[in-house]
Amino acid sequence: MEVVGFWFNPNVHPLLEYRRRLTGTEEVCEITDVKSVVDESYDPAGWFALVTGTEESRCSRCIGHRLERTAQEAVSQGCDAFSTTLSISPWQDHEAIQAQGALAAERHGVEFVYEDLRPLYPESRRLSREWGLYRQKYCGCLVSEWERYRGS
Ligand code: SF4
Repeated sequence: MEVVGFWFNPNVHPLLEYRRRLTGTEEVCEITDVKSVVDESYDPAGWFALVTGTEESRCSRCIGHRLERTAQEAVSQGCDAFSTTLSISPWQDHEAIQAQGALAAERHGVEFVYEDLRPLYPESRRLSREWGLYRQKYCGCLVSEWERYRGS
């Protein structure tokens, strides 16, 4: 199986955090010898407009937006399927990942592969420490940053 890494994260705020994570992604692709494609279009205002004022949950809309773009890129890269690194996180809404992935797959005619990778999360922490990679402290958006630090 040949893997293509893809970056699209307008949900990561603020800009300097976005840049730190992008650098980490590029580093891990280099270490693992994975081709990476980066969509650096970064529009936080557009992202806020997309996820607010709707009955659907903020995270579901956010995940859907990113998987939609990923499915589109998978087709343009000639991939048979797409997936997401979100599936290794114990903090993410895995039902939303599966539902939004399936919707994006249907819209773009490309398979969505979901696997519950949460058991591998401790190993991902170990490897990222070994490789000296930056580790995010909160999910991505300003709301998640507030949720992470409001008690401290
Ligand atoms: S908490 Fe994470 S998944 Fe939810 S809206 Fe914010 S960045 Fe997106």
